[in-house]
Amino acid sequence: MSITEEEFGFATRSIHAGAQPDPATGARNTPIFQTNAFVFDSVDQAASLYNLQTFGHIYSRISNPTVAVLEERVANLEGGRAAVACSSGHAAQLMAFFPLMAPGAEFIASRNLYGGSITQFSHTFRRFGWTVHFVDPREPENFRSALTKGCKAIFVEQLTNPAGIVVDLEKIAQIAHEAGIPLIVDNTMGTPYLCRPFEWGADIVTHAMTKFLGGHGAAMGGVVVESGAFDWGQNDKFPGLTKPEPAYHGLTFHETFGDFGYSVNARAVGLRDLGPSLAPMNAFLILTGIETLPIRMERHVANALKVAEFLDGHSAVSWVSYAGLPASPYHALARKYLPRGAGSVFTFGVKGGFDTGVKVVESCNLWSHLANVGDTRSLILHPASTTHRQLTDEQRQAAGAGDEVIRLSVGLETPEDLILDLDRAFSAAARPTIKAVSS
Ligand SMILES: *Cc1c(COP(=O)(O)O)cnc(C)c1O
Repeated sequence: MSITEEEFGFATRSIHAGAQPDPATGARNTPIFQTNAFVFDSVDQAASLYNLQTFGHIYSRISNPTVAVLEERVANLEGGRAAVACSSGHAAQLMAFFPLMAPGAEFIASRNLYGGSITQFSHTFRRFGWTVHFVDPREPENFRSALTKGCKAIFVEQLTNPAGIVVDLEKIAQIAHEAGIPLIVDNTMGTPYLCRPFEWGADIVTHAMTKFLGGHGAAMGGVVVESGAFDWGQNDKFPGLTKPEPAYHGLTFHETFGDFGYSVNARAVGLRDLGPSLAPMNAFLILTGIETLPIRMERHVANALKVAEFLDGHSAVSWVSYAGLPASPYHALARKYLPRGAGSVFTFGVKGGFDTGVKVVESCNLWSHLANVGDTRSLILHPASTTHRQLTDEQRQAAGAGDEVIRLSVGLETPEDLILDLDRAFSAAARPTIKAVSS
């Protein structure tokens, strides 16, 4: 049975898309195919697999049946054509760019990204000869102004962390398409339940499945999804997709595979040669997480709104940056792009700056002090003293991680408990510190 987007609702597809009872055993849940390799029927069949003439599994670095169910599920939920899963969100970003880039190539990225992405793009990608130009994403025209001849893509994050910006996807997609290049959207914070980038013109979506898709803080994973709508042959910017590939007997990915040629390239060249494949066990854990994605996201959003409203009215808090609050400058964009809610990761400022920020996170009991988001558990972080510690004051301000900023990832606990724990932490932080005396 094929679980198509036209016929079935999001919740049904979250549970069923890509999966079917195991034909060999009848197992109803997707088995964990914990095997490195797959037996060939014959030498001829092996040859056709290697030549990409038949689809099938050879070796789990390139594809695996458990991982394949996950890939099909995420592609379905995003409304995309095909997907390639990887070992982490960062691996997915590398895999997303790899089919498009070559030494000397450039791309434009929003300057408001997950901190690790800024480092990956500006330092490590640089060593491949790829140059990133960062722009302020709040004004879409900034992307047009930064276009260069060698530019191969525009990359943005929807619902950026930690600044909480909602970007105008439709306008940015238009600018990318006028330049003949794809728009890549990191939809980790939105998830396909809250935000559907392809409906606004995005061409490629990436996720850190580590976060809300897995949803339980238990498995790292990433995925690249292709919409199938971008015409790679419209110009000569993407020779990796439109010119014969020497390592596959002169096969041309765009011509041979059409609307999923980019994904076949990301797998058959990217995963094959760079190797960041997703472990079957992690694919299973993430699949299990996705089964409850819609109900988890609804509760994440409801809890986040309650916590944000509490903070907004608290005397220890100077501001709250949550696009779900009507006073947010991004509220109108959030209603357009995230109609079911503005996620559950946001920041607020405490009066008293750096020291108070540190005391608040250290005084929480229920909220876990750690650097992650998208867990069932509620998480709290003071970026200035942790994730953004290496940056200069100026860079921290620009990233939305000033001294007074605290970041929350609101989990699925009873919201009153979360609010009480924060309230107690504010009281504890307001008390003068008493130095411990050792005996
Ligand atoms: C965590 C995260 C990443 C990186 O994902 P990893 O799985 O940690 O490699 C990328 N983008 C966003 C928005 C993230 O939150």
